[in-house]
Amino acid sequence: MTVTPMMAQYLDIKAQYPDALLFYRMGDFYEMFFEDAVNAAEALDIALTKRGKHDGNDIPMCGVPVHAAEGYLLTLIRKGFRVAVGEQLESPAEAKKRGSKSVVKRDVVRLVTPGTLTEDSLLEARRHNFLVAYAELRDQAALAWADISTGAFHVMPLARVRLSPELARLAPSELIVADGPAYDLTRPLADEYHIPLTPLGKASFDSTAAEKRICALFNVGALDGFGTFTRAEVSAMGALVDYLEITQKGKLPLLQPPLQEAEDRTVQIDAATRRNLEITRSLSGGRAGSLLAVVDRTVTPGGARLLEQRLSSPSRSLDVIAARLEGLDAMVSDHTLCSALRDDLRKTPDLDRALSRLALERGGPRDLAAIRNALTQGEAIRTGVAGFELPHLLTDAVAKLGGFDALLDLLDASLIAEPPLMARDGGFIAEGYDAELDEARTLRDEGRSVIAGLQKQYAEQTGITSLKIKHNNVLGYFIETTATHSEKMLSAPLSETFIHRQTTANQVRFTTVELSELETKILNAGNLALEIEKRLYQSLSTAILDMAARLNQAARGFAELDLITALADLARAENWSRPRVDTSRTFHVEGGRHPVVEQALRQQGGEAFVANDCDLSAQDGAAVWLLTGPNMAGKSTFLRQNALIAILAQMGSYVPAEVAHIGMVSQVFSRVGASDDLARGRSTFMVEMVETAAILNQADNRAMVILDEIGRGTATYDGLSIAWATLEHLHEVNQSRALFATHYHELTQLAAKLDGVENATVAVKEWEGEVIFLHEVRKGAADRSYGVQVAQLAGLPTAVVERARDVLDMLEQGARDHGAAKIQIDDLPLFAASPAPQPRAPAGPSPLESLLAEIHPDDLSPREALDALYQLKDAA
Ligand code: ADP
Repeated sequence: MTVTPMMAQYLDIKAQYPDALLFYRMGDFYEMFFEDAVNAAEALDIALTKRGKHDGNDIPMCGVPVHAAEGYLLTLIRKGFRVAVGEQLESPAEAKKRGSKSVVKRDVVRLVTPGTLTEDSLLEARRHNFLVAYAELRDQAALAWADISTGAFHVMPLARVRLSPELARLAPSELIVADGPAYDLTRPLADEYHIPLTPLGKASFDSTAAEKRICALFNVGALDGFGTFTRAEVSAMGALVDYLEITQKGKLPLLQPPLQEAEDRTVQIDAATRRNLEITRSLSGGRAGSLLAVVDRTVTPGGARLLEQRLSSPSRSLDVIAARLEGLDAMVSDHTLCSALRDDLRKTPDLDRALSRLALERGGPRDLAAIRNALTQGEAIRTGVAGFELPHLLTDAVAKLGGFDALLDLLDASLIAEPPLMARDGGFIAEGYDAELDEARTLRDEGRSVIAGLQKQYAEQTGITSLKIKHNNVLGYFIETTATHSEKMLSAPLSETFIHRQTTANQVRFTTVELSELETKILNAGNLALEIEKRLYQSLSTAILDMAARLNQAARGFAELDLITALADLARAENWSRPRVDTSRTFHVEGGRHPVVEQALRQQGGEAFVANDCDLSAQDGAAVWLLTGPNMAGKSTFLRQNALIAILAQMGSYVPAEVAHIGMVSQVFSRVGASDDLARGRSTFMVEMVETAAILNQADNRAMVILDEIGRGTATYDGLSIAWATLEHLHEVNQSRALFATHYHELTQLAAKLDGVENATVAVKEWEGEVIFLHEVRKGAADRSYGVQVAQLAGLPTAVVERARDVLDMLEQGARDHGAAKIQIDDLPLFAASPAPQPRAPAGPSPLESLLAEIHPDDLSPREALDALYQLKDAA
C-alpha cells in the first residue's frame, strides 16, 4: 500500500491530535480529510468532496478558505470541537530546494479549544473566558483558572463538595482534569453545566513538575513570592500551564502572577441559588432579564467583565466593601466628574485583550493602536481628576493609568490614526517616523515623479532639453537622446556619468549608476517598505510587552473606574441608596425593590413597583419571616429582592431601597418549590428535597435563606409536614436569617411558638368577588389564599371557577365540622356549575326549569351562554 508523501505527512500529524479536527493548510485553504472532513462538513454545512484514494477507498475531503477561517472556527468550537491548526512552515519554493519530491513542511501551530481563545471575533467582549483546572491530591483539592485573553490567573484550595458551586460561579468555557477518578467525578457536573471537559495525562498534574513549570513561566526561583500554596493548588496551576503549553505550542500567554482566593472571602452561592436568583443569567439562559443585565451600565468590556465577576462573588470583607462604597459615594456626589470620566472611558479600548494577543503573536496593528488609544484616555483621565480629593480606591485606580509617557510618545509618533487589521499588508506606520521607510514608500508611490526629477536634473546637467528617461521591459529604465545629441554624452566628461546601453536607428540609450540604483530601489521599494513595517511592528510590540505587567495594572485601573462610575450612574438614575454593612446580624430594609421586576414593569408602562420593608434582625438565634398570600401577590419577588439587595450591598454597590442595613451575609441560599429539572432525570419533588437538604446541612447563622413554597411538589399533608420540619430546623439548628413563603396557612401557627419567627403577608383587596393585588407586604398572616379568584383572573372557564367555589365552600365547612369533608365530597353532585337542583315541585315546572327550557344551547354564543348562566343563578 503506497501513500503519497503528502498523505503520509497528514496522517503523521493527525496521529498526534486524535481528539481534534486537523486544519491542514494547503495554499489558501485549510483542508480536512477522512472522519474530520465528514464531521466538519456536517457541522459547518459545507460541501464534502473527495481527493485521491487511501486503502483503495476515496478520501473524503472538505476545506475552508484561510481568510474566512475564524468564522468556521467559531462554529466548530461552539459545537464542541477542538481544532488543531496545521500551517505550512515553508514556501513550496523552499521545499523544492530540498529536493524535487519534498513536501512542504507543516506542523500544528496551535490547538484551538473553547478555553484558549483570544480572537475578538471568537470571544464575548463583556465576559471572561475561563479555562479551569481541577486537581485532587489525596485529601486535598484545588481549582486554578485563567483567562488567557486577559491574563487573569487565580487559584484556590477547595473542599470537594464545593466544586459544584465554584464551577457555577466561574462558568468556565473549559475544564481540565486528570484522566481517571477525577474525570469520572467531574463528568456529571460538566454535563450538567454544559462545560467542555478535557482529560489530561496524570503527568500534567504532577506537583513537582508543576512547580518547576510555574517558576519557569514567571521566571522565579520559587513560588513563595506569590503566596503559600497547597500541593493541590500547585498541581492545578501546573496542569493549567501545561495545557497552555500544549495548546499554544510553546507560545505562552502573558499570565499575571497567580492570585490566591479563599472560599471564606466571598459570599458562597451555590448553583441552584444562582440560577434561581438569576444573578448573571436568567432562567431562560440568556443575559437579558438577569440582575447583571439590569445593573450593567459599564462602558468598557473590561468594566463589564469586572462587574460580572463582582456580582458572582460578593465580598465578605468589611474593608473591601467599605472601600468600594466610599469610592462610589464620591462618584455619586460628583455627577459632573463622574460623567466626564465615563466619557473618557467610553473611548478606551480593551487593553487586556489587545495585550494578550500581542503576547501570543496573534496581534496586529490595531492592537498596537488599541494600547495607544487606551493610554491616551488614561492621560485624559489623569488630567481630568487632577486637583480632586478622591477616596483611595479611585486614586489607586487612576495612578495605575500613568507612567507610560515614553511608550505613549513612541506609539503616537509611530502609528497612523486608524491602522489596518493585519500587519502583513503594511500601511500602519506613520509618515515621518522612520526615514528609511519614508524613502521606501516615496520610491514606491512616487517612483515616476522621482524619475521625472532625475530627468530634469540630467537635462540641466547635459544641456540637452530633449533628454528623456523611459522604461521598457528589456532595458528597464534608460535615458534616451537623439543621435544628434549623443555625441556629447559619449565623450568626456559626460561619458563618465552616462553609460551607453543601446543605439537604435534614431536614438541612443544610456543609463547611470544612479538610475540603475534608483531602478532597483523602486523595484524593491514595495517589499522593503513592507519589511521595514514588519520590523517596526515587532519592535513596537516588544516595547509594549516589556511593559506588560504595568499595562495589565492599567487595565485593572480602567476596569475599576468603569465599574465605580457605572454603579454611580445606576445609583443616581435609579435612586438607589448606600447600604450600611457591618458585622451585626441585622437585616433591615426599608422601601426595598426588585430591580429586574421594577424595570420590567416600567417597560410595560403599567403599574409602578410597590416598595416593601423587610426586617430579619436578630442578635442571636434565627430570624424568619413566614410569608403567606395568594399566588401572584408578589411573594417570590419580595423574597428574591431581599437576597439581591444583600448581594448588591456586599459586592460594594448601592442598593434598590431607601434604607438598607445588612449584617454581613456569608452564604445565600434560595430554593423554589416547583422547578423542573428534567435534564437530570429527577422528579421535581426529588430535586427540591435534594436542594433543601443541601441548605439544612450547610447554612450557618450568617446565611441568608430563601425558601419559596417548599413541599409543594407532593401531597398536601406530606408537603406541610416537610415544610414545618424544615422551618423548625432552620430556626433551631441553622439559626439563619430566612424568608419562607408558603401556601400552608397551618404554618402560621409556628410564629406564636418559635421565637424570632414572624408572620407576614402580601396584601390583597377583594372587590366584587375579584382580588386586587396590592403587592404590599404587611405583618400578619393571610386570611385565605384566594386561589379560586386567581384562577378566575387567569381565564379558567367560569363554570369551572363556580364549581371550584362550591367545592371549596363545602371543604371548608367540612373542616369546620371536623372531618365531615369526606362525606361532603361524596355528596357533591358530579360537575354542576350551578348549585344542586332544587327538589322538583309536584305541580308544573319551577322558575328555574322554565328558564332552562327556554335555553337552546346550539343557538347561543359563548357570551350569551354565560349571561344565561348568570340568569339561572339569579333565579336559583
Ligand atoms: P407570587 O410569588 O406571590 O406568586 P410573584 O412574586 O411571582 O408572586 O409576582 C407576580 C407578579 O406580580 C410579578 O411578575 C410582578 O409583575 C408583580 N409584582 C410582584 N411584586 C410586585 C411589587 N412589589 N410591585 C408591583 N408589582 C409586583
